[in-house]
Parts: sequence; structure tokens; C-alpha cells
Amino acid sequence: GVTSVAERLAALVRTIPDFPRPGIQFRDITTLLLDPEGFQLAVDALADSVSGPVDLVAAIEARGFAFGGPLALRLGAGMLLIRKDGKLPGETIAEDYALEYGTDRLAMHVDACAPGKRVLIVDDLLATGGTALAAARLVERAGGTVVGARFIVDLIDLGGSDALRAAGVDSVSLLTYE
Ligand code: AMP
Repeated sequence: GVTSVAERLAALVRTIPDFPRPGIQFRDITTLLLDPEGFQLAVDALADSVSGPVDLVAAIEARGFAFGGPLALRLGAGMLLIRKDGKLPGETIAEDYALEYGTDRLAMHVDACAPGKRVLIVDDLLATGGTALAAARLVERAGGTVVGARFIVDLIDLGGSDALRAAGVDSVSLLTYE
């Protein structure tokens, strides 16, 4: 029909006001995941937005994992897990990134990305871009080439896509909120 992909996805993303703190509008993609047609539509649209070859999809814990697995298989790529520090069993490298209050730390296995691998970063949502940029730094420290970043949702007022572009990372999001 004439309904756009963004409109169909928007109808499946739920907004929870004041979570996890007063004033935050939490864009909840768990309702999209519960809908098999919407979930497939999202993965297909992410895959269709990718033109060049991808060796690894680097998915960010935790909601990035949900989209990263099926996206990796559709692209014929492997899946690289970017996790909160302290969760991965092997030797890791880590990067700090700023939160609204304080910092957090992401990690990846030091041997997860051979030099020269073409890596696509995926997460559910882009806000300031701090999380995705920390993931990009990890991949680049391992010698990988970040070929782009993909998100279901972009909170455009928070400037994440500009921050990624300034770092040389091209991003595409399926759905935007102001
Ligand atoms: P940022 O690092 O500022 O781009 O924040 C993106 C990360 O925080 C993603 O992993 C999101 O899952 C999460 N996040 C930030 N803001 C929201 C929001 N309003 N609704 C849902 N998730 C969010």
C-alpha cells in the first residue's frame, strides 16, 4: 500500500514517558520485535540501505543484538558483539563514553575483528551518538573499517547523525523523532 516503511514501524514502536527518568520519552522497540511482519520489515529495510560489502555486523548490547543477528545473516556477514564492560569472557579492549551523568564503558574481544574487515555498526536507537562512536573506536582500534551505522530510530534533535558524520561514519535510521 501507500503506507511508508517509517509509518508502519512508527505504529509498532511504543513511547513510554518518564523512563528511566522524568522527562525522558523512551522509544521502546520491544513492541516492534513482537510483531513478526514489522520485525522482518525493519531488518529488510536496514539490509536494503546497505550498498557495499559487509564482513561483520557490530551489534551493541542489548537491543542492538535483536536486529544485528538477522541483519548479519541477511548481509552474509558475521556478528560482532559490543558489550558493556565486564561481560565478555576473553581478552577485551574497552572505550568510555559520556552519559548524561557520568560515563559508561563498552568492550569487545580484542581478536573479534581481523584488520581490514568491513564493519557495520547497528543499534536500536541513535540519540547523541556517544554509544555508536565508542563502538566505532573499538572497531577501528582492532584494525577494522567502519563502513556505516544503522539504527531503527534517530532522535534527531540530539545530533547523533551529525556527530557520526563528523567522525566519518555514514548513518541511516528508519524512523525519526524530534
Ligand atoms: P546515545 O549514546 O546518546 O546515542 O544513546 C543511544 C543509546 O541509548 C542506545 O543504545 C539506546 O538504546 C539508548 N537510548 C538513549 N535514549 C533513548 C530513548 N529516548 N529511548 C530508548 N533508548 C534510548
